[in-house]
Amino acid sequence: MTVGYELISKDGAARRGRLTTAHGTIETPAFMPVGTAATVKCMLPDSVKATGAEILLGNTYHLMLRPGAERVEKLGGLHRFMNWSGPILTDSGGFQVMSLSKLRKISEQGVTFQSHVDGKSHELTPESSMKIQHQLDSNITMCFDECTPFPVEKKDAAESMRLSMRWAQRSRDAFVDRDGYGLFGIVQGSVFEDLRHESIEALTKIGFDGYAVGGLAVGEGQEAMFSTLDFTTPSMPEDKPRYLMGVGKPDDLVGAVERGIDMFDCVLPTRCGRTGQAFTRRGTVNIRNARHAEDPRPLDPGCACPCCRDYSRAYLHHLFKTGEVLGLMLLTWHNLAYFQEVMAGLRSAIEGGRLKEHAAAFRTEQALGDIEPL
Ligand SMILES: [Zn+2]
Repeated sequence: MTVGYELISKDGAARRGRLTTAHGTIETPAFMPVGTAATVKCMLPDSVKATGAEILLGNTYHLMLRPGAERVEKLGGLHRFMNWSGPILTDSGGFQVMSLSKLRKISEQGVTFQSHVDGKSHELTPESSMKIQHQLDSNITMCFDECTPFPVEKKDAAESMRLSMRWAQRSRDAFVDRDGYGLFGIVQGSVFEDLRHESIEALTKIGFDGYAVGGLAVGEGQEAMFSTLDFTTPSMPEDKPRYLMGVGKPDDLVGAVERGIDMFDCVLPTRCGRTGQAFTRRGTVNIRNARHAEDPRPLDPGCACPCCRDYSRAYLHHLFKTGEVLGLMLLTWHNLAYFQEVMAGLRSAIEGGRLKEHAAAFRTEQALGDIEPL
C-alpha cells in the first residue's frame, strides 16, 4: 500500500481532504466521471480533464469481457490504453454481474455468470477480481462484494453482508501492495444500523486504504439513503477516505458531503447528457422541450463551459431534434462541468467554514426551477 489521505479541514461532519496516488492527487470531496468501457462516453480525456475531474472510474465487468484485462495489461495498462494519465478507480465487477449478466450463480467461492455480450461463461471471485484490477493498473481497487438488493429482509441483508466481509478478507489477502496503489473495503448492511456497524467493524479489523458505502442508491430513496449515512459515517475511520458508490444527483452529493462523504461516482451526468437532460444551477432542463426551440440564451447562464459559452438553447434543441452527435457531446460536457463545479463549491465552502449557508443557497437556487421562457 498505499494511497495517502490527508484530512485538511472539517466543517460539521463534512471533510476537505486530499488523496495521493501514483498518478496524481485528488482534492476531496471529489466526483469521479464514469468511464465504463475505457472511455467517458462522448468526451476526449483532455475534455474530461478540462471540466476539473481528477480521477475516473472504470468498470471491471465491462473491461474483463471487452477487450479483456490481459490485453489492456499487454498494452500498458488502462491509463495508457485510454490516454488518461490521472488516477483511476475500478469497481470490483460485483455490481454489474448482478445487474447485467445472465444465469448468475453465487456461492461462497464467488459468482459464475454468462456474459451479456456473447453468452460465454465466466467466474468472478475476490481473487480474480483483484487480479483483473491489478492488470488494469487501477490506482484504487475495490473489494469484491455482493451488492445487497433493496428492499431486503434483515436476515438476508445480514447473510449477504457477512459473505461480503469474508470476500473482503480474501480480497485483502490477494491484493498486491504497490506504492501509490490502494484497496478500499465496502461497507454493506442495507438500511440496518447494527448491520452497517458490524460491517465497519469487520472491515477496519482487516484494514483498508479507504472505505466505501455500498448498497445504497439501489431504490431506497434519498431520505433512507441520508438516514443510513447518518448512522454509518460517524463510525467510519476518520483518517481514511469515504466513498459513496453510485451516487448521485447534485442534491444527493451536497447532502452526502454534509454527512461526511469524500468521493462519489455516477453515470447520471454522462447518461443524461446523451438523452437531452441537463443539470443546471436551477434544476434539470430537458433540452428537447419545444420551449427551447427559439431561445437564444445559454443552457445555464452561470456556467463557463464550452456548451454554455458558445451555444444557444435553440441550437442544442436543434441538435437533439436532428440526432446530431455534437448535441450529446455538448450536453455531456456541460453536465460533467456542472458536477465538478458543485464539488469545487463544496470544497471551498468547507474550507471557509460556511458549508451550511452554501448548501442552503444551493437548495434555494435549485428550487427556483428553470429560467422563465422568453
Ligand atoms: Zn455549461
